[in-house]
Formats: sequence, C-alpha cells, structure tokens
Amino acid sequence: MHVTDLIRRKRDGGELQRSEIEFLINGYTSDTIPDYQMSAWLMAVLLRGMTRAELTALTESMLHSGQVLDFSDLPAPKVDKHSTGGVGDKTSLVLAPVVAAGGLYVPMISGRGLGHTGGTLDKLESIPGFNVNLSADDFRRVLKQCGAAMIGQTAEIAPADKRLYALRDVTGTVESPYLICASIMSKKLAEGIDGLVLDVKTGSGAFMKSEKDAIFLAELMVETGQRLGKHMIALITSMDQPLGHAVGNALEVAECIEVLNGRGPDDLCELCNLLSAWMFLVGKRVPDLEAGRELAQQMISSGKAKAKFKEMVSLQRGNAAALDDPILLPRAKHRTDIPSPSSGFVSSIMVEQIGTAGVLLGGGREKKEDAVDPAVGMMIHKRPGDKVSLGEPLCTVHYNSAERLERARPLILASYKISAERPSEKPPLVRRLVEEKR
Ligand code: URA
Repeated sequence: MHVTDLIRRKRDGGELQRSEIEFLINGYTSDTIPDYQMSAWLMAVLLRGMTRAELTALTESMLHSGQVLDFSDLPAPKVDKHSTGGVGDKTSLVLAPVVAAGGLYVPMISGRGLGHTGGTLDKLESIPGFNVNLSADDFRRVLKQCGAAMIGQTAEIAPADKRLYALRDVTGTVESPYLICASIMSKKLAEGIDGLVLDVKTGSGAFMKSEKDAIFLAELMVETGQRLGKHMIALITSMDQPLGHAVGNALEVAECIEVLNGRGPDDLCELCNLLSAWMFLVGKRVPDLEAGRELAQQMISSGKAKAKFKEMVSLQRGNAAALDDPILLPRAKHRTDIPSPSSGFVSSIMVEQIGTAGVLLGGGREKKEDAVDPAVGMMIHKRPGDKVSLGEPLCTVHYNSAERLERARPLILASYKISAERPSEKPPLVRRLVEEKR
C-alpha cells in the first residue's frame, strides 16, 4: 500500500477500504507515516467527506489504537452522555448521580474547557480534593462500588485521536464533521458503554452555530454508534442562552447541587430530566421516555441522587461536605453587578462572548498551560425575553482580579442586545431528536 495513492484517491473523491484506513491510522500512530502525509489526507477528507463505511472504519481504527475498557462483568447496562460543549453546560454533574442512583452504570470520561466552552473536569476539580486522574483499576473500583465514576482521558484511551487532534488543530482540519465524529466517538466508545445520549448544541454559544450543521453531525454520530452496536440518541439543543444561571466552575457545581436538592433553574432542571430519561431508555432500564422522566424525578425528590453524588465525590477523594454546605467551595474575593445600559427587553445574548468573558476572568484557559481559577464566573440574571430597566443588573460577576474584570466587562455588555420590543416566542430548548435508523 502506498500512502500517496490513498491521499490521491481521497483527493479525487474516491472511497478507501477498511484495511487502507487501518493502514493509515496504524502507520501514523506508529510513526511510519509522517505528519505531512497525514495532513494531506486529513485535508482531502475535509474537502471530500467520507462514506459511512469509511467513517465507521476510521472510528474503529482510532478506538482500537488504545485501551477499550470492558465492564461487561458489571450486572447492569453502562451508559453515558456526551455534549458537544456550551456555556453553563453542567448537566453531566447531575446526570451521572441520577442515572447511577436509578440502577445503571455511568463510566464517564470527560474533557476540560475548550475555547469559550466549559469542561466537566474543571468543574469537578473545583470540589476541594476531587481527583479526576484515577488509574484504570481505581476507575473500575469506584464505578463498581457506586455506579458512577468521572475521570479525564488517559494516555491509553484512543491515542490516535490525541495525535490526530493536535495535527488537525494546526492544519485547518478541525471543522470536518467526519473527523469530529470519529474523534468524539472513538473516545466515548472506549468507555465500554452499551448506550450513549448525545447533546448536540446549536446556537450562538455552540461550536455548530447552524442547526443544519448540528443535525448533520448528530446523524453521523448516531449512525456510527449504531453501526458499532450501541444504542444511540441525539438531542439537538439550544445554546442561544447559557444553560441555567451559573457560568464558572464552582458556581456551576453549586447550581448542580441546587438541582440535586430539587431546586435549580427551570431550563437546567428540564434538560437534566430529559437527558437522564433518555439515558435510562438507551440503557433499557425503562420501557418509555415518560417512565424515564419519572424515575429521574424520583431519584432527585427521594434524595438518592444527591447521596450518590456525595458517595462518588468521597470515593474520588473530594470533600463531600461541600455538597451540603457550598460555602466550602472556592469563592471569589469580589462581586460586581453589570448594569443594563438601557431599558427594554433582552432580545438576544451572544453566548460565545459570555463564555469568552468567563475565560478572561480566569475560569478557562487562554493558553493551554494556564491554571484555571475555580472561583470566578458570572451569575446571569437576565435572559432573552426578560424585561429590564436602565441600571438593573444583567448579571453579577465573581472575580479575583480587577484587571481581568476590566477585560471581561466590555464583552459581557456587548453580548447583550436590548430592544424596545418584546421579542416573539422563545425558541424551544430542545430543537429536534435524531434517532437510530430501524
Ligand atoms: N471534541 C472532540 O473530542 N473532538 C473534536 O474533533 C471536536 C470536539
């Protein structure tokens, strides 16, 4: 096999065989295929796309480049949720304990903040002592004991993706939906799960700004998962406003505790309930979605989900007392309100700018090596459709550095559009479902 032939064939819109894709991925991960040839092939994929058979072969080759966890000895199905990323998107911290309390296993391997979006690992690490770097044996032990465990990606999981992602990052090939699909699915399927719920975000705070692109990516991921024997569902959900009120690591943990206590903002509670219900359904724990919704609600109202979260936090060496007393979570030294510059109605929020403001406050990374400040962030008070008076707070910023506050402030102000007219109907939180093909 010659790499140049494979590059040419993809460049000219032809199809590669499974063995040829395996040759490329194995060759790249074992250093027999250099970066410049892999870059050319990735660019050909970005421009020409892939057939579904090619995409399945690529995902499988990347999946098998490393360790695939096997939890088949555990006595109930294993399920997970993956979100394509948003601002204030904190559902994983609620879903894992709710679904584990409801009788399924949730082996969750999560990521850090990427660009303007937050990451589950950064949120978890704001719980004092919480360890996201468990060995594979400890991950299994926690999962077996309490039903949920949440860790970061290890070097052993899909190493081909790690190298390919770094190469895509510097060759303008991150945006290919085929490459995004293979990247996400190879990592998720390495968790040894039976079912996966995808939360594909669309809107001003999402990576997929257009609903059409989000649906296409969701279709690719659902079909690829199904071809590899998993139960799949994707929800296309709105990221045209931050989810819930809290944006920032410790603030978001505190808001999740509210949800687990049976309170919490309506949009966040609704999405958590729906995603948990779908996790119960893809894990065959319930016969239909309504039963899944009821079970999720019971896990919250009975306190079982909260107890499960405390158990998981303790097993991962976090201070579970902070879940009863959020004052023990990191707190910023200062707070200030951002007043509305006019009266009227909030007609829209540019959510990406809110996310970037959170990064500038120190809650995310401007450079890869930056440390994250767990305490800083924003509490959003006004959302699209809300009436607002001149000087009324749009949000409250929690900050530790006046210089960082002054960098974030103009972005927050510019992200709010205030108009004289009340905007028409609010767009729904869940735009669409992408289901498995029968
Ligand atoms: N997240 C991933 O894990 N991979 C991508 O390619 C894009 C987002």
